[in-house]
Amino acid sequence: MKIVIIGNGISGVTAARHIRKRSDHEILLVSGETDYFFSRTALMYIYMGHMEYHHTKPYEDWFWEKNRIDLLRDWITEVDTDNKQLVRSNGFRINYDKLIIACGSRSNLFGWHGQDLDGVQSLYSYQDLQQLEQNTNRKVDRAVIVGGGLIGIELAEMLQSRKIPTTLLVREKSYWDNVLPPGESDLISRHIREHGFDLRLGEELDKILPDENGRVKAVKTKSGELVNTQLVCLTAGVSPNISWLSNSSIETKRGILINKRFETNIPDIYAIGDCAEFRDPPPGRRNIEQVWYTGKMHGEILGKNIADNNDDQYNPGPWFNSAKFLDIEYQTYGTVYPKNKADENSFYWEDDDGKRCVHFVYNKDTTELKGINLFGIRARHDLFHKWLKEKRTMDYVIENLGASSFDPEFYRSYEKKLIKKYNEEFNANLKLKKRGFSAFLNLINT
Ligand SMILES: Cc1cc2nc3c(=O)[nH]c(=O)nc-3n(C[C@H](O)[C@H](O)[C@H](O)COP(=O)(O)OP(=O)(O)OC[C@H]3O[C@@H](n4cnc5c(N)ncnc54)[C@H](O)[C@@H]3O)c2cc1C
Repeated sequence: MKIVIIGNGISGVTAARHIRKRSDHEILLVSGETDYFFSRTALMYIYMGHMEYHHTKPYEDWFWEKNRIDLLRDWITEVDTDNKQLVRSNGFRINYDKLIIACGSRSNLFGWHGQDLDGVQSLYSYQDLQQLEQNTNRKVDRAVIVGGGLIGIELAEMLQSRKIPTTLLVREKSYWDNVLPPGESDLISRHIREHGFDLRLGEELDKILPDENGRVKAVKTKSGELVNTQLVCLTAGVSPNISWLSNSSIETKRGILINKRFETNIPDIYAIGDCAEFRDPPPGRRNIEQVWYTGKMHGEILGKNIADNNDDQYNPGPWFNSAKFLDIEYQTYGTVYPKNKADENSFYWEDDDGKRCVHFVYNKDTTELKGINLFGIRARHDLFHKWLKEKRTMDYVIENLGASSFDPEFYRSYEKKLIKKYNEEFNANLKLKKRGFSAFLNLINT
C-alpha cells in the first residue's frame, strides 16, 4: 500500500514514523517548504542567534532513507479524488492508496491596503524567516507589528534582539484579551511596555503606505496617526492552509472537516494537525487546535490506526498549552475563558511585583476545578491533568499546590502568599500540605 503525506511538519512526520514503526507500507512525505522536517517553534531562536537552522532538525538527514520514508520537495496543487492522484507543481501526477493531509496553517491577511509592499511580511514559514533576515539587513529605524498574540510577541522579542525599536498595533483593549481574562492580559500588557515596546492597544491598521520605490514607508492607523517604518510584520493569527484544496471534493469549513478518527468525507483521505477541523470535537476541546503537541498526538493516533488497522478515536483529555511572553512563562490547563461562564467562579492571585499570577476557574456549586492559568510559575503538567480528570475541588487543589511546583529548589515559592489570600477571600482556614518532588510523587501515584 502506498501512503502519501502532504506536509513534513510535526503532524505529517509523526504519522510517517508511526506507520513505519509498525508496518512495511510505502511512505512518501511531500513538502514545498523545506527538504527536511524542522521545528517551527524554534524559528525565533535561529534569528536571535541561539541556534542554527541545522540544530532545529529533530532527525539527521540520513534518518529518512534508513527508515524508508521517501521525501519529495514540491507543492501539491490539486487532489484528484476520483483517480486517487495528486497533481504536482509541474503537472506530473502521484498515485496514492491512502492520503494524509497535514498541510498546516498560513498567516492571516485581511486584504489590507499595502499588504504586498516590499518590507511587509508575516512569520510562519522558513521562507518568512529568510525574508525577515533580508528585511532587517537594511536599515530599519522602526518596525511595526500588527496583531497581538503569541507570534506577535515572539517577533517583538526577535526584533529587540537586533535593537530595532518596535511599535505593536493591537486591536484589543488589552494584550490577547480575546484569550486571556483581564488580570493576566493586564499583567502581560504591562510586561510588554516595561520591555520598552511601544504598545498601542485598541488601535487598528488602516493602510500601509509606500515610498516612491514601492517599499513600505509608513503605516496609517484607524485613529489617523502616521507611524514611519521600514518593516511591517502582519501577525493577526493563522488559519488552516486549505485554499489550495478549493477545487477538490474534500469537505472544508474553516479547516478540513474530519471525525475523531481523522477521516474526511472521502474514503482513504485523512487530515491532521493545524489544517484539520473536527466536526464534533472531544469534550473540552476546540474544533481547530493549532499547537505543536496536538499535531503530534494526531499523527501518532492516525499512524497507528493506519498501520494496525485500528479505529482509535482522538480523546486527548483536558486542554493544556504553554508559551512565553518575553521573560514570563505561561501555562494553562483545562478551560479558562476570558470571561467566566454562567456556572463558573474565579480566584485570582497576583504577586506584589506584578510579574506572577495564578487564576483558578471552578464550578460555582461544586467548586470543582475547571481550569487554571499560571504566569511566571512553572507547574507540573501531570498533576493538573490528573486533578482536572479527577474533578478535584478548589480546597483540595489549593492545599496541595506545593506538590505542583515544578522547580521548588530554584524558584521563589508563591503558595504561602496565595493560600493567605484564598483564606481571607473565602473565610477559610486551609493549610498548605507538603511541597516538592516527593509530595508530587505521592499524589501522582495515588
Ligand atoms: C513562529 C511560530 C512559533 C510557534 N510557537 C509555538 C509554540 O511555542 N508552541 C506550540 O505549541 N506551537 C507553536 N507554533 C504552532 C506550531 O508550530 C504548529 O501548530 C505546528 O507546526 C503545526 O504542525 P503541522 O504539522 O500541522 O503543520 P506545519 O508545521 O505547518 O507543516 C505543514 C507543512 O506542509 C507544507 N505544505 C502545505 N501545503 C502544501 C502543499 N499543497 N504541498 C506541499 N506541501 C505543503 C507546508 O509548507 C509545511 O511545511 C508556532 C508557530 C509559529 C509560526
